[in-house]
Amino acid sequence: MNLPTDSNASGRDLGKEELALLKEVINSGTLNATKGTMVKRFIKEFAKEYEVPFAYATTSGTASLHTAIAAINPDPGDEIITSPVTDMGGIAPILYQNALPVFADADPLTLNITAEAIAPKITKRTKAIIVVHLFGKPADMDPIMELSEKYNIPIIEDCCQAYFAQYKSKNVGTIGDIGCFSLQQGKHMTTGEGGIVITKDPKLERRIRLFIDKAWGYGDPKPDHYFLALNYRMTELQGAVALAQLRKVKRMVERRRKTAKMLTERLQGTTGMTLPETTEDNVHVYWKYALIVDTDLFGVDVNAFSAMLKERGIFSAPRYIQKPAFMCEVLRDRKTYGRSHCPYDCSRRKGEKEITYDVNEYPGTMKALERVLVLPWSEFYTEEHVDYIAKNIKEVMKFYISKKEKNAKITI
Ligand SMILES: *Cc1c(COP(=O)(O)O)cnc(C)c1O
Repeated sequence: MNLPTDSNASGRDLGKEELALLKEVINSGTLNATKGTMVKRFIKEFAKEYEVPFAYATTSGTASLHTAIAAINPDPGDEIITSPVTDMGGIAPILYQNALPVFADADPLTLNITAEAIAPKITKRTKAIIVVHLFGKPADMDPIMELSEKYNIPIIEDCCQAYFAQYKSKNVGTIGDIGCFSLQQGKHMTTGEGGIVITKDPKLERRIRLFIDKAWGYGDPKPDHYFLALNYRMTELQGAVALAQLRKVKRMVERRRKTAKMLTERLQGTTGMTLPETTEDNVHVYWKYALIVDTDLFGVDVNAFSAMLKERGIFSAPRYIQKPAFMCEVLRDRKTYGRSHCPYDCSRRKGEKEITYDVNEYPGTMKALERVLVLPWSEFYTEEHVDYIAKNIKEVMKFYISKKEKNAKITI
């Protein structure tokens, strides 16, 4: 069986709606959003869907997160707390703003960070907390917002994997101070590359808008380049595709939720697996379907499961990311600017505690990565696809259980 995939037409809802809007853009002869109307239409509709006053389009999820951090404007050497289980696009921008990533341990079952893990990492230099709603499942926001209020630290929500996921009836991205989204090929909605930033705060809005466009004060009586900023402007071509995709995304999310529910029903009660939860107060949108496998019970690691599923045409990502962010070369070896190791070795941190990463502080993260098996998910999965996936997962699990039992007998 060939499962649809988000890397091509088999698993992407791209068609006449996108083409019609693209045609409008081409015929207009204006491909740049400053002069064009399509990106403006897109972000207006996006803001309306999210019931926020401000939305801006960018060139990627990474650009969106960079914009959010730049809007908060940390001083060099300040700290930003985030998850060690995320895309590097959520971490590199912290260093580009000369701030330091500090990691909170991830929950071993959801892989999201929790208030409990964030609290001990807060210092007087903490300038923001980035909360990633991993795989499309909302993090537990209430206690995180309590910390935010108590210490007056802004929250950036990384919603790249969580379009229209809801926490206590609120869309994620509207609970904290800034919400960031990606439109990369593999996300719920796509323009190939692209991103969105939303906020309710007018002060942050101004810096977000400026940062995306070289901080040039368009429309001001005496415009200037007000501060250091880049060009992260989306093109009208992307805007056209984004607008068409936006009009489909809620349906895509609903389809994903429906087929994920089917898989959960079929796998319920299977020994040795924890299935992703979705409740009325915590609505999962299944960017991916992540299983936590009891590897001790089966006596093999998740790579073995993945390899056997692959033989049956089911691709999965064992461990999701091979290692937590702080073990990647860029952070481990502080490969940043020239030979400086800035901002880790930074005059703005003289006399303060050095930021180092000790794997022993992350038992939840390490346990989660050892056990997680991430199944790609698609709005194009049918009941037949789900049956096929469920049947094969059960067979592979059974195979390893009986193999372990056989081995146990031999040793007796
Ligand atoms: C995809 C993703 C990003 C980065 O988005 P790009 O568009 O690839 O730059 C950041 N954070 C998370 C959680 C993501 O899934």
